[in-house]
Amino acid sequence: MSVIAFAKNWNGKFKNSSFELVSYTKALANQLNTNMVVLSIGEVAEEELKLLGNYGADKVLTVSDPQLNTLTSRAYADIVAKAAESVGAEVIVLSDNNSGKAIAPRVSVKLKAGLVAAVQELPVSFEPFVVKKRVFSGKAFGHVQIKSDKKVLTIAKNCFGLLEASCVVAIEEFAVDIDTSLFKVKIVEEEEQKDKVILSDADVVVSAGRGMRSPENWAPVEELAEVLGAATACSRPVSDEGWRGHEEHVGQTGKVIAPNLYIAAGISGAIQHVAGISRSKCIVAINTDPEAPIFGVADYGIVGDVMDVLPRLTEAFRNS
Ligand code: FAD
Repeated sequence: MSVIAFAKNWNGKFKNSSFELVSYTKALANQLNTNMVVLSIGEVAEEELKLLGNYGADKVLTVSDPQLNTLTSRAYADIVAKAAESVGAEVIVLSDNNSGKAIAPRVSVKLKAGLVAAVQELPVSFEPFVVKKRVFSGKAFGHVQIKSDKKVLTIAKNCFGLLEASCVVAIEEFAVDIDTSLFKVKIVEEEEQKDKVILSDADVVVSAGRGMRSPENWAPVEELAEVLGAATACSRPVSDEGWRGHEEHVGQTGKVIAPNLYIAAGISGAIQHVAGISRSKCIVAINTDPEAPIFGVADYGIVGDVMDVLPRLTEAFRNS
């Protein structure tokens, strides 16, 4: 019996979410008194794989076929399931990001395993196997029991943190038949979004709402984001109005993010908005209305006009 984690890479590099996943899985394996294996798919340099040892991995299985450098969720799920069976894993852990969300349900079906998504903590108990997760847009916590022998978990970002370890990593090629019939999508061209921080991965997010009054007023938001190396985001009405693209919309019906710093400018803080940002480590709100609900969830609040406060923040950060 063991625990396996699938660590996704991006063009051969791991991100913090992969390190957090390895940290979580190591802690889980320790609690179960078992060993853990990390699976990597696609070409990743040995030095990069060895970085996983800093977070507790001592064994990495890799499937380094270049055909797998681009994510194909069906083929990846097939390999994750086969690797889990090969090492006799009882718990299969993935990150709760786009790839994890696409792969985990397929792995769960293949292994006839119960799945709980967006878990935030180590299991509450092991017999029975019970995990805790947020429900009802973050308004409550639910305890979910998995009754199947095998269990699939996806781990919410920024909830667990990073372990400090210095494990020597044994890297082993996992020999598996790659089922090319599962490559249902062929990527013909990839366009890199240069100079743009991707919202779902961003450590810092500058977000704005209807308080900006018009799409022409977004320059102060973009300038602050640029100075901070942040991604930009917005409330739903802003994207519904077409002031900003839908890819920036956060909340219950948009992206759920967990940056280290979330700056909310001219956003009221409706419950549906907060559902998408409440896991941020630090929330700073700027609003003219001292009674705005966003101040109820903010760590720091500035009562003031966005058109006055945002440029002053930008100037202060630029000079710091
Ligand atoms: P408003 O509510 O209009 O708030 C604007 C704020 O700006 C106010 O607090 C005001 O005091 C302040 N303000 C005005 N002028 C200034 C100024 N010059 N300087 C500083 N502050 C100023 N919303 C989401 O965001 N994401 C979702 O995913 C989402 N999903 C939803 C799902 C459902 C089923 C429903 C019913 C609603 C959903 N909503 C969602 C909408 C949500 O209920 C709110 O209507 C929305 O979040 C409000 O957006 P806002 O804060 O930008 O605008």
